[in-house]
Amino acid sequence: MLGSTLLAVSRNPLARKAVTALPPTRRVVDRFVAGEATADAVATVERLTRSGLMVTIDHLGEEVRDTDAAVTTTKAYVELLDALAPLGLGHRAEVSVKLSAVGQALDDSMALEHAREICEAALGAGATVTLDMEDHTTVDSTLGILRDLRADFSDVGVAIQAYLFRSEADCHDLRDSRVRLVKGAYREPASVAHQKKNDVDLAYVRCLKVLMAGTGHPMVATHDDRLISIAELLADRHERARDTYEYQMLYGIRTDKQQALANSGALVRVYVPYGDDWYGYFMRRLAERPANVAFFLRSLGGK
Ligand code: FAD
Repeated sequence: MLGSTLLAVSRNPLARKAVTALPPTRRVVDRFVAGEATADAVATVERLTRSGLMVTIDHLGEEVRDTDAAVTTTKAYVELLDALAPLGLGHRAEVSVKLSAVGQALDDSMALEHAREICEAALGAGATVTLDMEDHTTVDSTLGILRDLRADFSDVGVAIQAYLFRSEADCHDLRDSRVRLVKGAYREPASVAHQKKNDVDLAYVRCLKVLMAGTGHPMVATHDDRLISIAELLADRHERARDTYEYQMLYGIRTDKQQALANSGALVRVYVPYGDDWYGYFMRRLAERPANVAFFLRSLGGK
């Protein structure tokens, strides 16, 4: 209930203004966001990769409604990838792209062109690209753009949201690809998505079974211990080497678990958001966990 209220609020411009104007918000945001500038993102990447973790970096922003903003986001990614290239991280570095931030709401072909520019820059840096998945109205467009990109950049990945009824079939279609499996972070209607947590978890396991049985590279993106254990069992059942799949978690969430998994020999990639347009991302993190809201409210009280 609290979660879906926060997701509704996250799309309200007045609420955005009010929350972003609260001075202590910044401290709370810093728990989930690596900073505002490219240099902040690069410093975080260096720190995380030194401790054996991999990264996927998200330049914050979504739902841009004008061409200039889409171009600015694309340039930010290219600047970031150029800054990462000298670090020689190869596939340990990746960028995550929300197509709505590079023009999807304006025109699919603009989003494709911008995503292509980002893929070129990633290739130059030895890094990979994964397309984030946004609300259900964008899934067909995102998978269409993915198909076009993969014709030239075969290792582009995509996020698939287990809560959508369609996702098991999408996993079948993508079983030879890099697929990041997530539960799903948007408020979706009952006509397209499971509403109960247990149903989402069961759907996640069904999708995971398809991906682990396939020839692609499953990216198990969850903080849920039960699902991580099931992923490990399925990888064993399919005799997968540990470098043929990976775990992914968000920056600032369950950092001990991230490190423990990496120390056990698993591939672990941390999703690192940076930039000044943190509002939508931040509100989705609050919506996922009431304890984060309490933390936020305490900080407003000065504690
Ligand atoms: P949950 O059942 O929500 O959580 C399991 C446990 O993890 C909780 O009990 C708690 O201990 C911990 N936890 C979970 N969330 C938080 C939090 N916010 N703060 C503190 N602790 C927490 N969604 C999309 O719709 N599209 C995407 O492209 C996308 N990309 C993602 C990329 C990565 C790497 C990850 C990890 C998630 C991504 N998500 C994306 C978000 C995802 O859909 C879920 O909303 C989010 O991961 C929470 O679900 P969970 O699987 O961790 O399980």
